[in-house]
Order: sequence, then C-alpha cells, then structure tokens
Amino acid sequence: MAKINCIGILTSGGDAPGMNAAIRAVTRTAIYNGLSVKGIYRGYKGLVTGEIKEFKSQNVSNIIQQGGTILKTARCKEFTTPEGRKIAYDNMKAEGIDALVVIGGDGSLTGARIFAEEYDVPCIGLPGTIDNDLYGTDTTIGYDTALNTILDAVDKIRDTATSHERLFFVEVMGRDAGFLALNGAIASGAEAAIIPEFSTDVDQLEDFIKNGFRKSKNSSIVLVAESELTGGAMHYAERVKKEYPEYDVRVTILGHLQRGGSPSAHDRILASRLGAAAIDAIMEGQRNVMIGVHHDEIVYVPFSKAIKNDKPIKKELVNVLRALSI
Ligand code: ADP
Repeated sequence: MAKINCIGILTSGGDAPGMNAAIRAVTRTAIYNGLSVKGIYRGYKGLVTGEIKEFKSQNVSNIIQQGGTILKTARCKEFTTPEGRKIAYDNMKAEGIDALVVIGGDGSLTGARIFAEEYDVPCIGLPGTIDNDLYGTDTTIGYDTALNTILDAVDKIRDTATSHERLFFVEVMGRDAGFLALNGAIASGAEAAIIPEFSTDVDQLEDFIKNGFRKSKNSSIVLVAESELTGGAMHYAERVKKEYPEYDVRVTILGHLQRGGSPSAHDRILASRLGAAAIDAIMEGQRNVMIGVHHDEIVYVPFSKAIKNDKPIKKELVNVLRALSI
C-alpha cells in the first residue's frame, strides 16, 4: 500500500456543532504523528475548485468551543457526477493529498464511498450530523448539543404554554429520524413525540389524544420531527384545529437555531476521540470506514453499513415517554 504522508480534511452537508473540534483533533493527531494536513474548503466543492490550504497546528487553535465549521460546508452537485469527481481527484493528487477525512452525514459519506471505490483513495468518515441517523455509532457529532438546544427552547415554550393553557406543536429537525424529537420529548418532559419511524404504524395524534391528553394537565407540548413522513408540526396543528376545535393550539418551528451554538462537553469529547481515531485508522491501513463509538469503544463501520442501514429507534424510549407523560 502506498505510504500516506498528507491528509485532506473537509466538512460537508449539514453543519453540526462539534465539527470544529473534529477538525482540530484530526489536524493535531496527524501532525503529532508526523503527517501533514490540508484543509479543503466548502466540502466537496473545494476539492473540485481547488480551495485547499495547508493546515498547521495554529490553524485549529481556539476553535474547539466554536459551533459551525471553520472549513465551511456546502452541497456540491458536481461531485455527484463522474466528471466532477475526476476533477476532484486530479486536484487532490496535484495537492499531494494521499487520504481524505470527510466529516458529514449520510450524503457526505455516500459521496466518500463512491469516490473511494472509483479512485482507490483511502477515505475515512466521521459522523457529523445533529440527526444521529448514522448506523453503527451510538451517537453522532452535534446530536447532544442540538438536543440541549431543543431542551432550552422547550423549557421556555412550557412557561407560555402553561400560562395560556395551550397545546404546542414544536417542530424539531431530524429528516427521517426521530432521535431529536423522541429524546428531546423525554428530556423536556413533553407529552408526546411524533416521529417518522412510526408514521405508518399508528395515527400518532389519535394515540396521543387517547392516552390522556389534558386529563390532568393545563398545557401540552408535542415534539414533531420535521419530515415528509410526519408532515411536520403545521400538519398536526391544522388537524387538531379541525378535529378538536376546543383546544387552543400553537406551533413553533425551531429551525436552524438547532444547528448552532457552542458544542456540549459530550460533543467536544466525542469529536476529539473520533478525530484522533480517524488518523489511527489511516495509519493502521483502514480505509472506507466510518469511525463510530459503540459501548464507549471506538469502532470502524464500513461505509456500506453506516449509510444503507436505518438506525433503529428504541421502543423502550417510546414507552418511557408514554409512562412519564400521564
Ligand atoms: P449530509 O452529509 O448532511 O447528509 P447531503 O446529503 O446534502 O448532506 O450531502 C452532502 C454532499 O455530499 C452533496 O452535496 C454531494 O456533494 C455529496 N453527495 C451526496 N450524495 C452523493 C452521491 N450519491 N454521490 C456523490 N456525492 C454525493
């Protein structure tokens, strides 16, 4: 196998708090081990346009506490075409980059997988997404911080919901995964969560109303995962207005504030561990794997597994929420 001297690093797709901590960890671990590092700006776009810069230890100073990503992120259509990936590969070689570390979600790791197969380039993925929807890792960089942001918001909504005796539908992120909605609901003491995983099983609204809504409470908060499968918070608010006109209903869409903010201790530590492990993996000759954490141990998850499998949501959590929201 060709010797690896230089690592290219990029952040891609949706940003997540803790990506900077991961950039820092990859950069410093690489330098510590005698490798050089190049930062690639704006995800795969920078690989295609050649926006690449050498990173020294100082380039990642004072960023562990910052949300967002100093490398910027973008979505890059060109990289989804063979022609675009050829330009990316040529740029990578011209820069002397031997291996790539890609920090991002499902889409970004899919891109890494295809690129690695086409050009025999060692690619290592780090799970960077607030959605926590990558299979094979217990948690992802940014998820814990986003969950805490949701708690902060829902605690505030509870004050006004209680004062006015209202029913609030609070929409949270989570494309096709209900982790933020379900765990956000448990942690904030919300009455229910409507999540894509169960959208075809039951009428989650009926279920919630039948399960004692307003029997003993003067406010209710339901977290709804933004998803085509659930229809989002507005959809449920409209339904309640029609089917239960006696309730005073409001909607709050938390939106992009869930992506921002200083990463939690959990996310900083996770990102630091995963970033360091990415370099260990490259030096061990691993390629085309996502680094994850399972039972508090570092694990290597082949891209095919991490991307293709749906991460299951625990039924136990649903039961906990139901029991605690009576
Ligand atoms: P996320 O990583 O947050 O899931 P996206 O799904 O938007 O974000 O993907 C980020 C980028 O990854 C895309 O803009 C594209 O450049 C690349 N990508 C996604 N899917 C593919 C694919 N099938 N082939 C090549 N590149 C892809």
